[in-house]
Amino acid sequence: MGKCFSRSCSHDIPISSSSDDAYYQPTPPKRPPLPPTLTTPSSKTSGTSQTIVTSSSNIGPILGKPYVEITTIYDLDKELGRGQFGITYLCTEKASGRMYACKSISRRKLVKVKDIEDVKREILILQHLTGQPNIVEFKGAYEDKQNLHLIMELCSGGELFDRILAKGSYSESEAATIIRQIVNVVHACHFMGVMHRDLKPENFLLASKDPNALIKATDFGLSVFIEEGKVYNDIVGSSYYVAPEVLKRSYGKEIDVWSAGIILYILLSGVPPFWAEAEKGIYEAILNGNLDLQSKPWPKISPSAKDLIKKMLTRDPKSRITAAQALDHPWMKVGGEASNTLIDSVVLIRMKQFRAMNKLKKLALKVIAENLSEEEIKGLRQMFNNMDTDRSGTITYEELKSGLLRLGSKLTEVEIKQLMDGADVDNNGTIDYVEFITATMHRHRLEKEENLYKAFQYFDKDNSGFITRDELRQAMSQYGMGDEATIDEVIEDVDTDKDGNINYEEFATMMRK
Ligand code: ADP
Ligand code: MG
Repeated sequence: MGKCFSRSCSHDIPISSSSDDAYYQPTPPKRPPLPPTLTTPSSKTSGTSQTIVTSSSNIGPILGKPYVEITTIYDLDKELGRGQFGITYLCTEKASGRMYACKSISRRKLVKVKDIEDVKREILILQHLTGQPNIVEFKGAYEDKQNLHLIMELCSGGELFDRILAKGSYSESEAATIIRQIVNVVHACHFMGVMHRDLKPENFLLASKDPNALIKATDFGLSVFIEEGKVYNDIVGSSYYVAPEVLKRSYGKEIDVWSAGIILYILLSGVPPFWAEAEKGIYEAILNGNLDLQSKPWPKISPSAKDLIKKMLTRDPKSRITAAQALDHPWMKVGGEASNTLIDSVVLIRMKQFRAMNKLKKLALKVIAENLSEEEIKGLRQMFNNMDTDRSGTITYEELKSGLLRLGSKLTEVEIKQLMDGADVDNNGTIDYVEFITATMHRHRLEKEENLYKAFQYFDKDNSGFITRDELRQAMSQYGMGDEATIDEVIEDVDTDKDGNINYEEFATMMRK
């Protein structure tokens, strides 16, 4: 979702023109680099191009401590997940046999001074906040010649929303228990002088598989220490959860309360309040859209919950409720006004759709792009190569941005971020060639009947006219997004006639929606 398919984008990037020879040719630089105030969306990729000078001594340049070979202390086991810079592994402390999570960041990826500052800050903030019940426990940081390793408490209960969906039903008061912990994190951060800046369901894990397990915030990669009086202006965060003042580039810690308010809205209704097909539309809705607390299922939700949501999603950050005040709200309190009646099952169904649909759609677009003829993609290939200045086979946010500038694009920072987010199907922070093609192909071309049919056939391995559960599982696992639960959700959502398979009609409807 969120590919830069919006009309305004296609004006700026003529690659989406319907004429085949309208592809970009390289042009000399037309404008100077962005001024320093226009910082990049992800603080992790921004900054100067200065490279770090590695010392030949035995002291690691990042932590300033002697190198330690991690495998002498821990056994690294299977991968738990990956993000932009690092891979998180399950690990066991040799001495105690205890299990932890180890986030390993390749030093090779920390090229810029800013990257190193960002990682150092993440460690510092983790160290600073650890001890709070809803924040992952930090155990230590080690550096060897290749990697930086952060050892932290293992959260074995999985992602928050997966747990909720697996549960099948929940009440308002259970939702209050969840949101109370999330606002607790906000309060702890603010109290300790930290602004989180990336609150979203994916960044909350459950400590264990126990039904009453604590919710833990694990990712402080975008967090910063709050400087008194400073007006923050870099665009960070994730589309649905981003506060309006972030988009206006002038914000403070109130943005975290907004994001928590969005999570609450989703918990109670199944969908985010500000929603659109493309990111641009989402941002417009965040800035000007109406907060819907009237249509289904809201009539069934308690007035107290709606009161809290209104206060958390107040557009003016100065009038917005603070984290401490939110914890004091009657709906939020233990034994407070949140009722014990179960939330309408429609909410759960919508929440599943919200999560599952985008996954399949993205995958199908990827398949179409992979199967386009050479003729169709040669212009795009050239554009990609122009941007991939270090010939690594992938482009980073920086390369995309400077590439677009070189090509004279008038895209705004937000739009470039959209393009990057939309393209980065596997969310590793860089775009490979196929992802690039996927994101930049003209939407109409992708949706052309024959291309849709090609994609359908790709999934329908045995030409039965249906995409079966097995076929979908195969395709999705090939792209590393195939857990049982997701596949069930996808079939559930797309399979409108409920026969257990996806026919072409259903597939095409999903792709065009
Ligand atoms: P990034 O900052 O690169 O996004 P995260 O800290 O969010 O990295 O970690 C990436 C993934 O690793 C998470 O989505 C999660 O699946 C897994 N993970 C991170 N920390 C833990 C942990 N403490 N316990 C279990 N899994 C974890
Ligand atoms: Mg993360």
